[in-house]
Amino acid sequence: MIDMFDTETAGPVGPTGWMDTASCAGHSDLFFAPFAERPEARVRREASARLICVACESLSRCREYARTNRELGYWGGESESERADAGFPPTTPIIGRKRVAEDRARNAMARTA
Ligand code: SF4
Repeated sequence: MIDMFDTETAGPVGPTGWMDTASCAGHSDLFFAPFAERPEARVRREASARLICVACESLSRCREYARTNRELGYWGGESESERADAGFPPTTPIIGRKRVAEDRARNAMARTA
């Protein structure tokens, strides 16, 4: 687990140095939901984000950072729902509604595929 103030584990460029090699730079629109995003659009957006993450050399450190900080958005190959399932829910009460909407959208898209 990353200690944000532990210089020994933070590396020579600071505790968020792994962000310097982030493959998502310039793609924030794929990693953070726009206002009032529809569930179907979220599923498609996060699928695109996932493709970028799986090829990113910072994936494991990014995922750990997001889990530790209970981040919102798509980080380290994980959505907010997936982080919550792993035991690291965001510190916001909206996760339950998002999860229900995502599950419905995913099921609806699977039925049409
Ligand atoms: S793992 Fe994904 S979210 Fe994290 S730095 Fe890499 S591309 Fe960005």
